[in-house]
Amino acid sequence: MGHLQDVLAGAALSLALLATPAVARAEVAEPSGCPIDSRLATTAPASDLRITFLGVSTLVFDDGVSQLLVDGYVTRPGFIDTAFRRIGPVRAKLDKQLHGAGVERLRAVLVAHAHHDHAMDAPMIADLHKEAVIVGGASTVNLGVAAGLPGKQLCTVHDRQTLYFGPYEVEVFKAPHGDTGRLLGWLLTGDTPSSQTLPARFSKLKDKENFSYLIRHGGREILVHPSAGYTPGAYAGVNAQVVFLGVGRLGKLSQEDIAKYWRQVGGAVGASTVVPVHWDNFMRPIDQPLKPLPWPLDRFELGQQRLDRAIAEGDRPVSVLRLDAHDTLLVASGGAVSLDRMGADPNKNAPR
Ligand SMILES: [Zn+2]
Ligand SMILES: [Zn+2]
Repeated sequence: MGHLQDVLAGAALSLALLATPAVARAEVAEPSGCPIDSRLATTAPASDLRITFLGVSTLVFDDGVSQLLVDGYVTRPGFIDTAFRRIGPVRAKLDKQLHGAGVERLRAVLVAHAHHDHAMDAPMIADLHKEAVIVGGASTVNLGVAAGLPGKQLCTVHDRQTLYFGPYEVEVFKAPHGDTGRLLGWLLTGDTPSSQTLPARFSKLKDKENFSYLIRHGGREILVHPSAGYTPGAYAGVNAQVVFLGVGRLGKLSQEDIAKYWRQVGGAVGASTVVPVHWDNFMRPIDQPLKPLPWPLDRFELGQQRLDRAIAEGDRPVSVLRLDAHDTLLVASGGAVSLDRMGADPNKNAPR
């Protein structure tokens, strides 16, 4: 799709959303799959921790022995399907992406919230990987309930909870969803009931909670903060060398607001490496070059320039690494960070 089409698609999506009624009803699942006992923790292997970017904020963490997924969204239906049809996971696309990223020993899918661009493929992924637990708020877990997953594969989390998946220690931070604009906010804020099967209209996947995840592994501390909202002071006393920072719709914010966001997240944890996530147009397939979310949904270039400026004004040097789909960040056991751009996709087009 060309730029003009991206723009038109963005405008048309905004219009299409106007026509979609909002219906939500809360139901609370009672899952039992949260591994909260610290005696479950195992020693991390000495190998590099590999973190592969699969678009939006879907990330594969792999230490060579076991894996975590943050978010589950690789099917990526196009604009027409997203705006006007029912959408859901597509097994063939899902298999291709997860196989390409080497996902075969998955322990958990840590989901930010139940919106389709984070959660849509998570139930099918957990169904295909029976050792994996879906971790998230009540709405996310309800999608797993609706998909027929057993309680041992479902974990409803709360703020500052710690979970143990083998050598991965995961601390949960509740955080506000980033600004979506009033229309999307009205449409997508609410509860997803445990009767909500897929495929479904994207607006059926509602949530009123959002979570970030601090993943500790063999001395490494990596924060994934998928949505561009924050609670002031939430990360006081928390450390992370690497932050995957949600930058969706940052271009809609002022320089001052972006600087506050940076200080409260990446600055607060003392990150020395930041990787922007949730910048791409999630209505384009992942095996084509990623493109930024188009106007009027975002002003990508402006947001990135302002983020760079905010980071440069901080009190420590920070490297900003921009990943394309299938790129892998390597974090060595001593904390050294490097990039492997040798992913399977030959059509590389990293955002600038
Ligand atoms: Zn969302
Ligand atoms: Zn999102």
